[in-house]
Amino acid sequence: MARAAVPGRLTGRLAWRAARLVDVAVQTPAAHSLTFEVPGWPGHRAGQHVDVRLTADDGYTAQRSYSLSAPAAGSHVEITVQRVDDGEVSPYLVDGLEVGESIEIRGPVGGWFLWRPADPQPVLLVGGGSGIAPLMAMVRERRRTGSHVPFRLIYSVRAPDDALFADELRHPTSADGGLDVSWIHTRVAPAGDPRPPGRITLAELAAHGWPADFTPSCFVCGPTGFVEFVADALVTLGHDPDVIRTERFGPTGG
Ligand SMILES: Cc1cc2nc3c(=O)[nH]c(=O)nc-3n(C[C@H](O)[C@H](O)[C@H](O)COP(=O)(O)OP(=O)(O)OC[C@H]3O[C@@H](n4cnc5c(N)ncnc54)[C@H](O)[C@@H]3O)c2cc1C
Repeated sequence: MARAAVPGRLTGRLAWRAARLVDVAVQTPAAHSLTFEVPGWPGHRAGQHVDVRLTADDGYTAQRSYSLSAPAAGSHVEITVQRVDDGEVSPYLVDGLEVGESIEIRGPVGGWFLWRPADPQPVLLVGGGSGIAPLMAMVRERRRTGSHVPFRLIYSVRAPDDALFADELRHPTSADGGLDVSWIHTRVAPAGDPRPPGRITLAELAAHGWPADFTPSCFVCGPTGFVEFVADALVTLGHDPDVIRTERFGPTGG
């Protein structure tokens, strides 16, 4: 039986839209921020993601999800893609797609992993690797709206050169007052850093995060193993599981 179309929905966020690449910002050799022009884009909230669809000449299609790494700006949509070397879609997005070419995008998707500027609670963001992408949209949305909600960001990367949005996070503007950034390096620490390289610990989450009785909103994003460790650790530290929002990007830890 054919399903009836729901007016205003299948032409809305469920519709595939042509998305033309208009700008590329090289974050690292393996990760690029891609800005697309998407006519008719309905807007989005910080933390949401999109579905991306690639179609080969023979009609074969591949579809993946990517977080929006910047707030809505008219018809412009930014995602930040980290290349997975043996992957099907991410190497093409990072190395193959050229400015002026088009793919398809559907969204925005997601109603739970969201930060709204009107939310008064302090915010704890914990990101691993490319899991910084939706958290960066929240940091930028806070800046864009002039919010004074205190943010603490803990960002785990393998080495200093692997950090995405490094300049923006290391050199905050006056509009970022109240944003506190802590860095975790898992494999290579910057010269002079007294912390030896290693994975984030419960003690570091306690030291760089908020006490549980401040009832912060917690957003955790990154590889599956990272997210599960951090979410469990936050519960151990007394945070209510209901205020811990998680987004898992991939199957592996590290
Ligand atoms: C809601 C959501 C939001 C996401 N947002 C982003 C984002 O903002 N930026 C981003 O770069 N990615 C993001 N991802 C991950 C993205 O959807 C793809 O999974 C990733 O780009 C790999 O796709 P691929 O086709 O290149 O690899 P695939 O062909 O799917 O996989 C190839 C191999 O890599 C492994 N693999 C797949 N994904 C990962 C991963 N993330 N890390 C390590 N190994 C992996 C697979 O197990 C397989 O062995 C998001 C995922 C979800 C579910």
